[in-house]
Amino acid sequence: MAQGRRDTSCRNAAPRGRALPVLLLGSALLSIGAVQAAPANDTAAAAPAAASAGAKCDRATFRIILDVGHTAESYGAMSARNVPEFEYNLNLARRIDERLKADGFSETVLLVSEGKARRSLQARVARANKKGADLFISIHHDSVPGIYVDKWEFEGKRSAFNDMFGGYSVFVSKQNPHYRDSLRFARLLGNQMASKEMQFARQYDQWFMGKFQRELLDIEAGVYRYDQLIVLKNTTMPAVLLESGSIINRDEELVMASDEHKNKVAAAVSSSAAEYCGTRGRAPPQVANPGPKTAKPAHRIAQPHKPAVARPARKR
Ligand SMILES: [Zn+2]
Repeated sequence: MAQGRRDTSCRNAAPRGRALPVLLLGSALLSIGAVQAAPANDTAAAAPAAASAGAKCDRATFRIILDVGHTAESYGAMSARNVPEFEYNLNLARRIDERLKADGFSETVLLVSEGKARRSLQARVARANKKGADLFISIHHDSVPGIYVDKWEFEGKRSAFNDMFGGYSVFVSKQNPHYRDSLRFARLLGNQMASKEMQFARQYDQWFMGKFQRELLDIEAGVYRYDQLIVLKNTTMPAVLLESGSIINRDEELVMASDEHKNKVAAAVSSSAAEYCGTRGRAPPQVANPGPKTAKPAHRIAQPHKPAVARPARKR
């Protein structure tokens, strides 16, 4: 997500123009549901709870809206090789859409928006709310704040990069009317991503992120809180925003462009949607408290050499 001042769909959209903007950085718990009690005289009632969890999900009627982050006009971040984030978002969302439909989620809707950033955000939320859905997933690719951008030359053109940060991240807003369900799906999705050997972006809860610093809600799944995102707070269904990885990281951009990565993310989304759908309405799974941040240095976290703007992290 690129984050311009105006585009709050994404944390880091690069500002328009050549100047590199402040981009966003960047970037199962299976609740085995309680099975309904079977009639006492039902001799087939002995199915184990785990086996019946999936049976609760009617994939054919479970609607997922896949929101393609940004628009062709307001494309979000710019990759290290000068490919607009919107293109990455569209390609990945299409792959996820195909996978979901192949897995039986036939009601999946691919939401592609047009126009300038702010207006497109309002419009996409309005379209999603009018359509109605069980889940809203906004697809993005990450970048970094402008102060962490370095320069290199790619195909004869002076271009921006940052190889220090990378990884996926999942965002939720506490202002979403279905925050608990949003968080539950976010954890399922993040855990699926992690189980496929993807690492989450560890920098977002660090002081040097300045105004992009976020509260880390789940250190296993890589879920952060970002209340102000329009597509998360104004949608009327559970909503998450997925940053699939950093396209301003030169190595990670190549990964993002690969079929292997897109297929992994598509599989993660489909599996987590199936788990979520099959366990809706159940008690939320127990999630380990993130605990001290030093408890599990599972992921690399590079400290930038450049000092961040001297601005105290805002308390939420
Ligand atoms: Zn974005």
